[in-house]
Amino acid sequence: MNGKADLHLHTTFSDGVYSPAEIIKKAKDTGLRIVSVTDHDSVSGIEEAIASGKENNIEVIAGMELSASFDDMEVHILGYFMDYKNKNLVASLSGFQEERLKRAKKIVGKLNQMNIPLTIDSVLDHVNGDSVGRPHIANALVDEGHAESYHEAFQRYIGDGRPAYEQKWNFSPEDTVRLIAQAGGLSFLAHPGRSVNEELIFRLIKAGLDGIEVIHPSHGHDLVYYYRGIVSEYCLLESGGSDFHGGERGDDEALGQYSIPISTVEMMRRRLFSN
Ligand code: AMP
Ligand code: ZN
Ligand code: FE
Ligand code: FE
Repeated sequence: MNGKADLHLHTTFSDGVYSPAEIIKKAKDTGLRIVSVTDHDSVSGIEEAIASGKENNIEVIAGMELSASFDDMEVHILGYFMDYKNKNLVASLSGFQEERLKRAKKIVGKLNQMNIPLTIDSVLDHVNGDSVGRPHIANALVDEGHAESYHEAFQRYIGDGRPAYEQKWNFSPEDTVRLIAQAGGLSFLAHPGRSVNEELIFRLIKAGLDGIEVIHPSHGHDLVYYYRGIVSEYCLLESGGSDFHGGERGDDEALGQYSIPISTVEMMRRRLFSN
């Protein structure tokens, strides 16, 4: 079967710029056949994406991108094909969203101590969905004139290890993989090239990880080759996508440029059937 799939897209339900329906239209324009909407700690955009997909002849796979804590790092784990109405999953997501709100308030508190008079309400004005993140804080900082640009907001204040940075509580990587599995989904380690070491990859494989996101804008040829090697050695699945957020952040052009063949998605489905 011909065609391409992009299994890593963010919408306004987390920190993306476009609504699920807008993303589906863009996906159609770039010639994608299958997409997954993978909002941070949220499944709220999936139904709109599926409905819009039906109108536009795009298949939509239920997805999400969960954060997990590993030592003092955060890793991202993608879930696909899960029952997004699963009670335990929905309850866990509400918990993660509450933790996100608590953490956003702490970051605002740190900014206030640095004499930046940002309020949590002005941050929440930038949130459409249920998952507040640092990108919303960055946008509020820019709109209120405390930073010149989105990237400067991260660099000066809220990026990892910067003065107003605050960690957030998450499940362990193992519990995250289990959460996805108990909801009937497949779990994939997201963009490992950004921060992940081999120790974590092997810990996750032991915990039942289904695959690795091999294709990602942050992976050059060497990393694609390297992760593909691990995938084949440990009988894992491969995934990939553009991690598209859209709009002002300048990654619009990435939609359609980072994709996997439909046949790779078929391999995921075979794994689901054999589970
Ligand atoms: P959060 O989940 O709230 O910690 O926000 C993480 C998101 O912020 C990531 O998915 C990126 O989109 C964005 N981000 C993190 N660090 C940076 C950075 N240094 N520059 C720009 N965007 C960043
Ligand atoms: Zn994001
Ligand atoms: Fe991520
Ligand atoms: Fe992402």
